[in-house]
Amino acid sequence: MKKVVIIGAGIGGLATALRLKRRGCDVTVLEQADTPGGKLNEFRQTGFRFDAGPSLFTLPSLVQELLAEDAGRFTFHKLDRSCHYFWDDGTRFTAWADKKKLSDEIQKVFQVDPAPTLQHLKKSEFLYRYTAKLFMERSLHKIGSYLSKDVWDAFVRVHRLQLNESMDEVNRKRLNHPKLVQLFNRYATYNGSDPYRAPGVLNIIPHLEHNIGTFFPRGGMYQITQSIYQTAKAKGVKFHFNEGATRIEVNQKKVSFVESAKHRYPADIVVSNADVVPTYRYLMKDQEQPEKILSRERSSSALIFYWGIQREFPQLHLHNILFSDNYQQEFEHLFKGDHPFEDPTVYINITSKCQPKDAPSGMENWFVMINVPANTGQDWSKWIPVLRKAIIEKINKNLNTDIEPLIVTEHRLDPLSIESKTGSYQGALYGTSSNDKMAAFLRHPNFSSKIKGLYFCGGSVHPGGGIPLCLLSARIVDDLSAKAHE
Ligand SMILES: Cc1cc2nc3c(=O)[nH]c(=O)nc-3n(C[C@H](O)[C@H](O)[C@H](O)COP(=O)(O)OP(=O)(O)OC[C@H]3O[C@@H](n4cnc5c(N)ncnc54)[C@H](O)[C@@H]3O)c2cc1C
Repeated sequence: MKKVVIIGAGIGGLATALRLKRRGCDVTVLEQADTPGGKLNEFRQTGFRFDAGPSLFTLPSLVQELLAEDAGRFTFHKLDRSCHYFWDDGTRFTAWADKKKLSDEIQKVFQVDPAPTLQHLKKSEFLYRYTAKLFMERSLHKIGSYLSKDVWDAFVRVHRLQLNESMDEVNRKRLNHPKLVQLFNRYATYNGSDPYRAPGVLNIIPHLEHNIGTFFPRGGMYQITQSIYQTAKAKGVKFHFNEGATRIEVNQKKVSFVESAKHRYPADIVVSNADVVPTYRYLMKDQEQPEKILSRERSSSALIFYWGIQREFPQLHLHNILFSDNYQQEFEHLFKGDHPFEDPTVYINITSKCQPKDAPSGMENWFVMINVPANTGQDWSKWIPVLRKAIIEKINKNLNTDIEPLIVTEHRLDPLSIESKTGSYQGALYGTSSNDKMAAFLRHPNFSSKIKGLYFCGGSVHPGGGIPLCLLSARIVDDLSAKAHE
């Protein structure tokens, strides 16, 4: 029986643990925190429940496929709309799941022909069909990945994948209203990137939301973590919480042990679900460091306020966006700015809209997030109060309210606490950014080409951040390790 040690119980680590256990390995997971989930966590405060990290759930089929015969323990429902959008000039737009309702809304709100948007969504599906197999479901760093027919189909169409144009350039050519361009540019933020620099191929993202749909897990996002964790535990994966790995020991170019402050675990296979930068910098200090990969630009981070609000706002739904009036400048600040941006796009997620028990009666649990730069030493004690004020001004303007007196409880997450809680380098939400066309090829592979038995999963390595991609990274590690160790 192969001994596997997995470092980190984030969604990628949990999914890898379950897969390798099913394959008959003896699996131990070391997690420095006291709960599983990493960024995909929850907490409760004075009668309110909050999902701490991810709030948008797409591709539930990946969770079902992972849970297989245990999928019944995880239930979810499809939403009738993906998001409510607000602009400072009073424009309001609901992105309905139903295409006819979406078309009517485009015509009514923007007074333009909806056909280009529907065509854009068709192209998004085309992109997804031809890129998912190559960029998301296989290792980009194994020759074998390039030998299948579907990968060649993608290569033949590479000129249509919009690698040489930015997402914004593509969207401006295709869409017939500046607010629709802004709305579709926002999808670059789903992996922490800048639509004015990221390649047009990122236009695959709206396919997930508009063509497949957005979903809400019963019990909240943390049920994704819980259902995988409980299944893995029931199958016999051994979990050690409050036990961080301190070193990966390598002998003769092969993994041999993982050390913690408490124990030394022998290992044939080590999978790091910790961010790849600290994995090399702290756990493998004595090994060659892949400097080029480790110094890549990080994705954006976030500032989140979790507010208990003592009123209900019928104009809001589960997902709400209050757009910046100067979107391009917002991204310049996110990746190059040296002071807080005064008009940030504000995202409000309210799970009590779908699950009333998440807030006391007549109240709502608000998760209020803006994107901010990854932590490179900014003075956050100065930035945070300025940004909090900007968020409140934006909310007051768009909802015609005075929100401050309605806040009955508050908690905060920022780039520094994201880094200290989950080990994410610079507090980045999605590992490295996708701000250039080679980004997909420059993420760390899911395996080490120098050290036998060493693998990587999660948002800081191929294929990237976000729940679906982290789940796919676990599938790739499972495939690669099965081939290498059988
Ligand atoms: C605020 C926020 C909002 C987000 N919104 C969305 C969203 O709406 N939809 C979406 O799909 N994604 C979203 N994401 C991104 C998504 O949460 C992440 O991409 C994903 O959860 C990362 O999973 P992971 O497997 O990389 O592990 P992580 O969650 O990064 O967890 C890594 C784990 O490793 C542990 N660890 C680190 N070092 C060690 C060590 N030395 N020893 C032991 N354990 C260690 C950490 O404690 C942690 O538990 C969001 C993220 C954040 C923070």
